[in-house]
Amino acid sequence: MTPPGQTIGVLGGGPLGRLFAQAAQNLGYRVHVFEPQAGGPAGAVANEETHASYDNLAALRAFARDCAVVTCEFENIPVDSLRALAAATRLHPSPDVLHICQNRQREKHWLGQNKFSHAVCAEALDGDVAAAVARVGRPCVVKTADFDHDGRGQMKITDDTDLEQAGAIFRGRRCVVERWVDFACELSVIVARTERGEIRVFPLSENIHTRNILDFSIVPARVSAAVAAEAQQLASDIAQKLGVVGLLAVELFFTDRGVLLVNELVPRPHNSGHWSIDGGETSQFEQQVRAVCGLPLGPVGVREPTVMVNLLGDLWRGGREPDWTAILAEPKSKLHLYGQREPRPGRKMGHFTVRAPDVETALAKARELKAKLAGEV
Ligand code: AMP
Repeated sequence: MTPPGQTIGVLGGGPLGRLFAQAAQNLGYRVHVFEPQAGGPAGAVANEETHASYDNLAALRAFARDCAVVTCEFENIPVDSLRALAAATRLHPSPDVLHICQNRQREKHWLGQNKFSHAVCAEALDGDVAAAVARVGRPCVVKTADFDHDGRGQMKITDDTDLEQAGAIFRGRRCVVERWVDFACELSVIVARTERGEIRVFPLSENIHTRNILDFSIVPARVSAAVAAEAQQLASDIAQKLGVVGLLAVELFFTDRGVLLVNELVPRPHNSGHWSIDGGETSQFEQQVRAVCGLPLGPVGVREPTVMVNLLGDLWRGGREPDWTAILAEPKSKLHLYGQREPRPGRKMGHFTVRAPDVETALAKARELKAKLAGEV
């Protein structure tokens, strides 16, 4: 066990690192952030920050010496660096888990090997998209195998798409071509697991994306109790099989035909879990602290139905701070801003939540507040 008072290291200095650091500090830990770029959201609140690239082994070893345990808020770190860290201190999740989750092809292979269902897919090497599309069938989507987040590096292929052009766009990159899934909704489940194998599964979040970026998360998800239980069991089984220590977010498609398909595995806190800060008995960040430090895991109940809305840089028109009055004046709404230095289109700057006795009321209020912010009403 790593008790309060010790130092936890975090790989990555973005918004998730900031929210993690705040939760860790509330429990009495020191936080040391490792992040290549200065001036990020986590560094502003961390007790210490190292600025060095993720392949600087000397800097990573010095960081490890200061930390009783290291975790991550960003998983795309060279595996040799992860192995060097794991040799020098406790690293949760392990390099093997992070390695699988860093690449769509490896992840799909692992899921298939372990009999977890995912969309039909095929590998496309060096822009050979046409052959993979022929195997999978149209419509489908080409995704770079190395993760680009928030829908970057993706292209939908329909009957009208020119495959030569598509191939040219992805030349030189390993890709996965996935059959298009007609889904009733997108869901995610966050699981926490300790080294001793204790597991807690958060309630399902129903996620609405706009232009491939998460827009709304609705908790509890509007699915039947049977579907919720099946999704939670599936996520728990995946976390167990993977042997992850820390958090694992399992992104799911719930298809038109009532089938759950795994879309992605994310071995860290997830944007769709932010509702838990205001609406959960334990936030996902506190749960990550508990899991990686070997503390007892916290209860995962929903205190009140909650909707989370992402705040993207597009709202800062001409660089001007939006008017937050409507959100701040709403008794059951909470505003969270991440201290990003600069608003950029598509950049996650913060989020807000709305709680209500039922999700439909919370969602209607969240939509109203979002429209007000955007100046639409
Ligand atoms: P991803 O980066 O794989 O999570 O994809 C981002 C978003 O694109 C997903 O959350 C879906 O809304 C959409 N998407 C990705 N893959 C598919 C698919 N095979 N079928 C339908 N929609 C998809």
